[in-house]
Amino acid sequence: MKIKNVVVAGGGVLGSQIAYQSALHDFQVTLYDVSDESIARSKKRVEGLFPDYHHDINLAEDDFRAHLKNLTYSTDLKGAMATADLVIEAIPEKLAIKQSFYDQLSKVAPEKTIFASNSSTLTPSMMVDHVDRPAKFANLHFANRIWLFNTAEIMGTPQTAPETIATLTEFARAIGMVPIVLKKEQPGYLLNSLLVPFEIAALKLWATGVADPATIDKDWIISTGATMGPMATMDIIGLRTPYYVGLEYLKTHDDPVSKLTMQKMKEKIDAGQSGKDDGEGFYYYPNPEYLDPDFLK
Ligand code: NAD
Repeated sequence: MKIKNVVVAGGGVLGSQIAYQSALHDFQVTLYDVSDESIARSKKRVEGLFPDYHHDINLAEDDFRAHLKNLTYSTDLKGAMATADLVIEAIPEKLAIKQSFYDQLSKVAPEKTIFASNSSTLTPSMMVDHVDRPAKFANLHFANRIWLFNTAEIMGTPQTAPETIATLTEFARAIGMVPIVLKKEQPGYLLNSLLVPFEIAALKLWATGVADPATIDKDWIISTGATMGPMATMDIIGLRTPYYVGLEYLKTHDDPVSKLTMQKMKEKIDAGQSGKDDGEGFYYYPNPEYLDPDFLK
């Protein structure tokens, strides 16, 4: 199936990016959100993407503006769905909200429409019972700053038809993404399944005093040829989200090394050193030591 008309449901951080990226590649896009106020916010968010597109991929202002014409906004789900070949759901990361959205969507979407969820942590199997077309449903997961970090992770349930995966793969390529297709469901997809244990291992080495952050990064960069180490990566992610995830983990695990690591993370967060956004994390910004040409010596 060839996709032409796309509905993006939810015009928040990611929905606005997905909608604009699709419009930029000449798809006809309708951004659906729940209220006039949220549509006004979404519109502002979309139009506010210009400086980043300009800075990061050198998109000219005329070009940016011309492609806004491919994008319309709506609070009427039924009307928005009338001609949709594909709907990409980017509404809040709460299972109950997503399930009730799919109940509603199933009632108004034409038979041909493929449903795709941008969920970061929910697998499609957790939502599929609320979808009237399991063969045409899968996750299609983008990374924040879609124009730059352009992977699209595609993950179906056992019921997803191979044609749906093929269509989503083709669509992802058509909007400038590199499709990453998973053969089966995996919470966290590929990236977070690799990144999270890696970051935890590095944090534990720091918290238990085995080595300081710059030494950990140096070893990783020199030994593997990577361009950045785990502690610098942690500064970009920021300590807050992993700290909250860690608190959940500690509720069910009695693990002294994790407890100590969390304690050390909390001290840094409380001291206003939770990462690049704070101006300080494991390094000082805007000129962190790891960018120094002599760092690897
Ligand atoms: P957000 O909170 O910025 O935006 C959510 C939007 O959905 C809001 O505009 C809200 O008004 C709208 N909304 C709420 N209920 C709705 C409904 N029933 N129908 C339509 N719209 C509704 O959220 P976000 O950060 O853009 O995340 C959205 C999804 O994308 C989540 O599943 C999240 O896991 C995923 N995601 C987020 C990121 C990220 O870095 N923020 C990265 C990858 C994936």
